[in-house]
Amino acid sequence: MAEIRTLTAGGAPADTHIAVDNPATGAVVGHVSDATAQEVAQAIARARRAQPDWAALDARSRAEYFTRARRWLLSHRQEVTDLIVEENGKAREDAIVEIVYCAGAFAHWAKRARRLLAETRIRSLSPFVLGRSMYTRRVPLGVVGVIGPWNNPLLNSFGDAIPALAAGNAVVLKPSEHTPLTALLMERMAHECGWPEDVFQVVTGAGATGQALVDTADFVMFTGSTKTGRLVAARAGERLIPCSLELGGKDALVVLADASLERAVNVTIQGALSNGGQMCTSVERVYVEEPVYDAFVDLLRERFQQVTSGQPGGLGSVDVGAMTFPPQLATVEDHVDDAVRKGARVLVGGRPAPGPGRFFTPTLLVDVDHGMKCMREETFGPTLPVMKVADAEEAVRLVNDSSYGLQATVIGANTKRARRLAERLQAGCVTINDAQTNYMALGLPMGGWKDSGLGVRHGAEGIRKYTKLQAVSINRFPLRRDLHMIPYDPSAYRLILRLVDFMYGTRRPHREQ
Ligand code: NAD
Repeated sequence: MAEIRTLTAGGAPADTHIAVDNPATGAVVGHVSDATAQEVAQAIARARRAQPDWAALDARSRAEYFTRARRWLLSHRQEVTDLIVEENGKAREDAIVEIVYCAGAFAHWAKRARRLLAETRIRSLSPFVLGRSMYTRRVPLGVVGVIGPWNNPLLNSFGDAIPALAAGNAVVLKPSEHTPLTALLMERMAHECGWPEDVFQVVTGAGATGQALVDTADFVMFTGSTKTGRLVAARAGERLIPCSLELGGKDALVVLADASLERAVNVTIQGALSNGGQMCTSVERVYVEEPVYDAFVDLLRERFQQVTSGQPGGLGSVDVGAMTFPPQLATVEDHVDDAVRKGARVLVGGRPAPGPGRFFTPTLLVDVDHGMKCMREETFGPTLPVMKVADAEEAVRLVNDSSYGLQATVIGANTKRARRLAERLQAGCVTINDAQTNYMALGLPMGGWKDSGLGVRHGAEGIRKYTKLQAVSINRFPLRRDLHMIPYDPSAYRLILRLVDFMYGTRRPHREQ
């Protein structure tokens, strides 16, 4: 068993503790402090003091700190991977993906921040500002509060801190109370890489700690459930601070009749079962065109039966790890039972697997419909319902029959047709012949429509959202008096109107009174 750690966040006294368990063994692997609102306020105050010096550095100097961090992350990858696997229970390969993402994010934001946040010249033809020099500049918001979920302890928590820091903000990160250890390891990384004191801090705790962060930060980057996201948005609205919300999903995959079935099955399995299906971007429902439905399901069943699950060890030990969050096991079981009660058939799996850890056998369901929870509510587990559709039109209607709109996938050989179809799907991200890999392209925005969120991560907006815009207008050649100024001069306004007629193309100038 791993050594039991007692870690405290931001120097907070460890008076109240949260036990962290290994979902694959049930063993307690660490304790963290449950930070109070006062401790969060203290962390924010320290961050506020540290932020101006960090913001004063040019992008190149901040990039230097990122380079050190990237090297640290890669040279400590064994330790980081071990910790992610230990506190989350995922397969080792799924933990490696988180490290690859963060190493890439350090490189991406270090390289792009300067250009994406550069001043922008503005031109105007208005007669009121002729000759003015104008531009916009981006100013860091101050202290960004990042609140993360348990399914990706590194990528979805720390990953979102990177662009916020690149934009010149200080960051206070509150990881999930179920997987806080990786974030604390990142605090140690910042220390060992010589990052300026308090520019990046971690506060650990449960919902109340997150709430305290929303009460005090200048911006909230929230990743988690739609239910909590609404609370965060409401509070941010009261405080009139901006927030970005990355929430739940019920991502659909459509298999068209001309698809390569091998590719379709491989993409479906990876999309549905990577990270044990505990991803906002997991494929949670599949619609298959009638002519290929039987062949697709036969191949999918065969491959599902070959998927290994259980306690993760070294590389290649299992495909699907544990269920991280205890209540999630009951939700997954409920969705399978509800489907079976309403007429679905279980082709593979269908039950929790024996412990000591928390496991659910990879499960394939057919004969499903939209009256079942498994087709409408987020399941967040290693289960996959597959539905036959008459044609692509029916698939589009069913994909869009959802309160969520995070991601959607179309698999088909005719990419022109697949693209036309994909663009009709109500989702913030659509992929063709791939699922989930779009997340790794940091230049491509990622965010949900409908109940799946507000705003995006990645892309230009993925860093610009961490700034406020300042508009600057300079009159370099000020006259004693401009034409339009009080006391109003009728001939000056006639001239202005003639100018407007000329500029905006009215053929015959109006006669002014
Ligand atoms: P959750 O909403 O229960 O918790 C998320 C975080 O919010 C945790 O750190 C929690 O302590 C904190 N929190 C709880 N109450 C709070 C409050 N009142 N104010 C502020 N913070 C509060 O979600 P979860 O169960 O940890 O994560 C799973 C969910 O996250 C799933 O719905 C999944 O789809 C979603 N998710 C979305 C994305 C995305 O990019 N869209 C990525 C990963 C996970």
